[in-house]
Amino acid sequence: MLPVLAKPNVCIRDRKRVEEIILSLQNGGASKLQIISDFDMTLTRFAHNGKRCPTSHNIVDTSRLISEDCKKMLKDLLDTYYPIEIDPSRSVAEKLPLMVEWWTKAHGCLVEQKIRKDQLEMAVRESDAMLRDGFKPFFDKLYEHSIPLVIFSAGIGDVLEEIIRQAGVFHPNVKVVSNYMDFDDNGVLRAFKGELIHTYNKREGALKNSGLFNQQTESRNIILLGDSMGDLSMADGVENTENILKIGFLNDKVEERREQYLNSYDIVLVKDESMDVVNGILQHII
Ligand code: C5P
Ligand code: MG
Repeated sequence: MLPVLAKPNVCIRDRKRVEEIILSLQNGGASKLQIISDFDMTLTRFAHNGKRCPTSHNIVDTSRLISEDCKKMLKDLLDTYYPIEIDPSRSVAEKLPLMVEWWTKAHGCLVEQKIRKDQLEMAVRESDAMLRDGFKPFFDKLYEHSIPLVIFSAGIGDVLEEIIRQAGVFHPNVKVVSNYMDFDDNGVLRAFKGELIHTYNKREGALKNSGLFNQQTESRNIILLGDSMGDLSMADGVENTENILKIGFLNDKVEERREQYLNSYDIVLVKDESMDVVNGILQHII
């Protein structure tokens, strides 16, 4: 067993199976490997010094670009719908229409604010957004070994790109599937592009964007990183998957959700604000 998997916050239902998958990933090597990762609260930190860190939406929602009235509305939406998003006692079918409602209302608010494209850089710079500890070796190693990293996010693509650009890790092996802003000729936000991606429709998004997930003819082994139950379907668009290792960050409502996560993710990282486990596995297999 890898030393990094012995940490007390690493929870695994079936250690033997995890060992077997890791061995298969090691045998496959870098040329077969692809990483598919969620963004908010997976590549970014959930909390820092006891304070919640923002999602890509929260960065815009609480920035200088938004009026006080609109900020209040967005905060009310968050307080209403976030508990539903993470509630383990509600079914996905029940959550689906409510998530569409949340994203649609929030995006509607943002469009009313006449946000300018050139203001996003400042909003990110002034925010408390933080990638997880150890993000740099993670991104750099994948780039160094030409391993595709697909970031699949229900957040805001323009904002998350800016976060990884400012962190100096937006390497050419990184591809992003997300909700992108649509700006008019004057660079003012007028809508969001394409079909909405929310927490629980990533399967549809994965199938629609399957070209992006099948660029490397060789890549057949996957490491999937997520923090939500909805993230588990992010690899559904990959053809001929040989092995998949699913790693889940359990950040919030730990006791209520532990069982559900242990049954769905191969490795569950409880309140771990770092990329240490992922980096340890990568170090071992390539
Ligand atoms: O990148 P990821 O797919 O995790 O992004 C979605 C996250 O953004 C959701 O888990 C949700 O909690 C959060 N969100 C938000 N504000 C919104 C919509 C979603 O903070 N208006
Ligand atoms: Mg997330």
